[in-house]
Amino acid sequence: MSVTSRVGVALLGATGSIGTSALRVLERQRERFTPVALTAYGNHVALASQVKQFAPDYVGLVQECPDAPASWGRGAECLVEAATHPDAQIVINAVVGAAGLPATLAALQAGKRVALANKETLVMAGELVTRAAAQHGGSLVPVDSEHSAILQCLAGRERHEIRRLVLTASGGPFRSWSSEQIAAATVDDALKHPTWQMGSKITIDSATLANKALEVIEAHHLFGVPYDRIDVVVHPQSIIHSFVEFVDGSVLAQMGVPSMELPILYALTWPERVQDNGVPSYDPVAQGALTFEAVRHAEFPMLRLGIAAGRQGGAAPAVYNAANEVAVARFLDGNLRFAGIANCVASAVSSLGHMPGDSLDALLAADAAARAHVQAHPGES
Ligand code: NAD
Ligand code: MG
Repeated sequence: MSVTSRVGVALLGATGSIGTSALRVLERQRERFTPVALTAYGNHVALASQVKQFAPDYVGLVQECPDAPASWGRGAECLVEAATHPDAQIVINAVVGAAGLPATLAALQAGKRVALANKETLVMAGELVTRAAAQHGGSLVPVDSEHSAILQCLAGRERHEIRRLVLTASGGPFRSWSSEQIAAATVDDALKHPTWQMGSKITIDSATLANKALEVIEAHHLFGVPYDRIDVVVHPQSIIHSFVEFVDGSVLAQMGVPSMELPILYALTWPERVQDNGVPSYDPVAQGALTFEAVRHAEFPMLRLGIAAGRQGGAAPAVYNAANEVAVARFLDGNLRFAGIANCVASAVSSLGHMPGDSLDALLAADAAARAHVQAHPGES
């Protein structure tokens, strides 16, 4: 294939866990794809080495840095500049948190495919984002493994044929811990995820099960399925990435060894599949039993709290998301106990969840109010 026929990709959050996995996929698939824009938050050394390897046309660093080359874009605007780069047909949004929202909207408004890892943007502004995709010819393809699994199970099927979505959850490091043990969990305990290597924010979200609440809301917006037809089951081996039950009672699952490189690749090539050797072969006998458990809601209140915020709608999911981002940052900094995360988020949603959420400005105001609320919250219930 000639250079000009390769599909241009902008990668936001290139230095993170998803970002570096995406670059491994792009390197293997260099006959099909070429990175035309890369951004990072502050790690200019890692970004510079990626730039040396991939020679993108555009480079952006969000944080001010005296050592960054003058040719690099800077400030939060660099995300939108990268996301709307004229040579980018696909934008991989692998930024963490609400900071990814303007770039997702800008890319969709420019008619691009967004391969979305940054689930927080759909949670915060699901209606605005899905509307932007519908109105401007852009498309939204999930990178999240559960949603990629659902997309793969749905290939060729219509929405009215879906009876139920079942998202799997590993259960995180505290799956079998008592409430007392969980309440006393340290940052190190919470960062020890049993099956996935990920950035610290999503790893804490996996320990509280907030990640699964974010994913239920994400699934609701991506697939247009009402909340009462989206279930969660704990599956500690992380081999089945999710299930779809159809109206005739048949259930399809997508399976494989846990690796984000497969969902990243599928988001780039969907609806096609291409030859790739990034994921080890799944050996059912060597893997052994696949098991399933009910969620222990009493021990993991962040799941129900998040789903309730999703059902409430308006600004409630944006408040839940922003409150969670700040509470997780406080926990990681040693300024909040593990159990304090749910206390802070519950307080923010009950105080601010009713704020209007019908425009981007309204959602940004709710996001800011939730951040201030959690900064000032003592953390005890
Ligand atoms: P990470 O912390 O490893 O990487 C985050 C990236 O975003 C980095 O490149 C960082 O420089 C950049 N970034 C951080 N804050 C930013 C800001 N304010 N503005 C601009 N850039 C910023 O995180 P990750 O684990 O790669 O997760 C990224 C996203 O993908 C999250 O939304 C996460 O929920 C989602 N996700 C991750 C995984 C996984 O396996 N890691 C799986 C599914 C979904
Ligand atoms: Mg996931």
